[in-house]
Amino acid sequence: MSRFLSARFAGLEAYTPGEQPQDMQYVKLNTNESPYPPSPEVFARINGDEIGKLQLYPDPEGKILRQKLADLYGVTAENIFLSNGSDDILNFAFMAFCDETHGAMFPEISYGFYPVYADLYGVQAKQVPLQADFTISAADYCKNEAMVVIANPNAPTGLELPQNDIEKIIQSNPNHVVIIDEAYIDFGGVSALSLVPRYENLLVVQTFSKSRSMAGIRIGFAIGNPRLIRALNDVKYSYNSYTMNMPSLILGKEAVKDDAYFKKTLKKIIETREWSKKQLKRLGFTFPDSMSNFIFASHKTAKAEEIFEALRENQIFVRYFKQPKLENYLRISIGTREEMEALFAFLETYLQQENEKVID
Ligand code: PMP
Repeated sequence: MSRFLSARFAGLEAYTPGEQPQDMQYVKLNTNESPYPPSPEVFARINGDEIGKLQLYPDPEGKILRQKLADLYGVTAENIFLSNGSDDILNFAFMAFCDETHGAMFPEISYGFYPVYADLYGVQAKQVPLQADFTISAADYCKNEAMVVIANPNAPTGLELPQNDIEKIIQSNPNHVVIIDEAYIDFGGVSALSLVPRYENLLVVQTFSKSRSMAGIRIGFAIGNPRLIRALNDVKYSYNSYTMNMPSLILGKEAVKDDAYFKKTLKKIIETREWSKKQLKRLGFTFPDSMSNFIFASHKTAKAEEIFEALRENQIFVRYFKQPKLENYLRISIGTREEMEALFAFLETYLQQENEKVID
């Protein structure tokens, strides 16, 4: 630890992202990316004139992409805040809406970055346990004195919280911002976007990293009441006017335009997910019924950590969280059908061998 690090950050426990090995061939099912590349229209733009003007600063307001998203979701550009991935949006939200006296609350089992942001800004975090079946009880989040953050569907469980529960939480916290992190909503969930016109405390956060196949370009956006969006902009312009680079704005707009491609890849991922659920069941796994592009699965006899290691040695990467309540689960991102077939072929042999060991 450097002696120059501010005392404010001593003891900070940073978020650990999933591995991104650069030097080997492997089946990558560990960070919930899309297994499909972005639309061909995106690639067609990469060498275009507009993107060539890199000597210029990008538009700090990101108008072209905000307007495109506004048209897509039937809101105005003033309802939209853009930033460098939804992590960046969440970061700005913690910065803008919380402080020493205004805390944050979120499920104890959820996206691991929430407690990190709380820690970073010295914000008191109330982490609410899930029910035994991993569901969220909406009543736990009603009438609390804190900003609420709910990932819907939740990560790493993949479970969706119904819209009426979401609305209850928003309604019962009129003096606090309620963030619905919809990183995985396109994979079959019901978005809270339709509630935005009715609730000035609702901020819906989405990303291009999963369903839009663009994790590498870093685009996140939030939709909310224009006053909330202005607050986020005030903080952003006090920090970095250009969180969105020019290629991201141009290529992001192109990705939104190709709606047919978006829907086609989404359909393939959902079909592969449903097929994968059947395979996992057949192999003796149980899991919450995921509405996302990953499945959080536990085996009835084999230990998750050992399966994780065995998969890793065979160049199949999934995510394992060595922490209480999660240590017997693997989070498996949905890849292509071929990638999932490779996973299940390996698991079939591995589990058979484990079974034989027990019998011996
Ligand atoms: N929210 C949730 C629930 C996530 O799982 C992730 C991805 N790890 C993010 C937000 C951040 O995604 P990104 O910054 O790539 O938009």
